[in-house]
Amino acid sequence: MSAESCTFCRIASGEAPAIIVRQGERIIAFRDAHPVAPVHILIVPVRHLASINEVIASDVELLGEMLVLARDVAAREGVDQTGYRIVVNTGREAGQTVHHLHMHFLAGRQMSWPPG
Ligand code: AMP
Ligand code: ZN
Repeated sequence: MSAESCTFCRIASGEAPAIIVRQGERIIAFRDAHPVAPVHILIVPVRHLASINEVIASDVELLGEMLVLARDVAAREGVDQTGYRIVVNTGREAGQTVHHLHMHFLAGRQMSWPPG
């Protein structure tokens, strides 16, 4: 998919609206348009990567930064002590609908396991 037609590329470039939580050079975080938890934030690399399947060895630092950002989001949202869940849906059976890599940050309610 080209950057022009990718929703998350358009959000990252400022062309499409979103409630931005954090805008960095390499990673952006914004609130999910259809939250499934009281806190539902998407942590997204600015560079277009379709999914974890496209990740290469040189992306290790980027993926680590996404987790560090998740930790910061947890503290800022006040859920670092109560708990949160990080989810990366990959592919059809996992329910990935947006084909630009993203980490769901979910918190603010009791979660169940196994996930649906
Ligand atoms: P996934 O099913 O893992 O691909 O998740 C895609 C997520 O992106 C869903 O939770 C959607 O609600 C969310 N989403 C799709 N379009 C937008 C948008 N324009 N702004 C914010 N969140 C979006
Ligand atoms: Zn994209």
